[in-house]
Amino acid sequence: MECIFCKIIKGEIPCFKLYEDDKVLAFLDINPDSDGHTLLIPKNHFKDLDDIDNETLLSINNVSRKIKKMLEEKLNCDGVTLIQNNGDVQEIKHYHMHIKPFYNNKKSIELIKYKEYIKDPKDVYEILKEN
Ligand code: AMP
Ligand code: ZN
Repeated sequence: MECIFCKIIKGEIPCFKLYEDDKVLAFLDINPDSDGHTLLIPKNHFKDLDDIDNETLLSINNVSRKIKKMLEEKLNCDGVTLIQNNGDVQEIKHYHMHIKPFYNNKKSIELIKYKEYIKDPKDVYEILKEN
C-alpha cells in the first residue's frame, strides 16, 4: 500500500494545509494532541531521521520557525514542542516533524488524555486561515 503522506502530497487525500513550498508541506494533524498540532513533511519520501538528507532537514527546520510563529500569533499558545518519532514509536513511515502548541490555561499535558477538550482540526484551521 502506498504511503499515506505521499498521497496527501499528491492531493489524493485531503488535508488542512497551512504552508507549502517546493520541498515541504505543513498541515494539521487529524488526531491532534492539542489545538494547532501540526505536521511538517518533506515532499520527497524519506522514511526517518536516518534516511532524510541534511538539506531537506534544514528546509523542515526553517519551516518549523514559520509555523511556530503562526501558532503563537494566531492561537496565542504559551509554548511549542517539536517532536519527531523513529522506529516503533513512528506510526507513519514518512519522515514528519510534529509541532504541538502548549496552553497554560488548558493544562495541555492533560488534554492529551482528554481528547474531547481538543477542538476539531477543521475549526482550528478556520482560525489559522484568518488574516
Ligand atoms: P507518528 O506516530 O509520529 O508516526 O505520528 C503520525 C501522526 O500522523 C499521528 O499524530 C496521526 O494522527 C497523524 N495522521 C495520520 N493520518 C493523518 C492524515 N490523513 N492527516 C493528518 N494527520 C494524520
Ligand atoms: Zn511517503
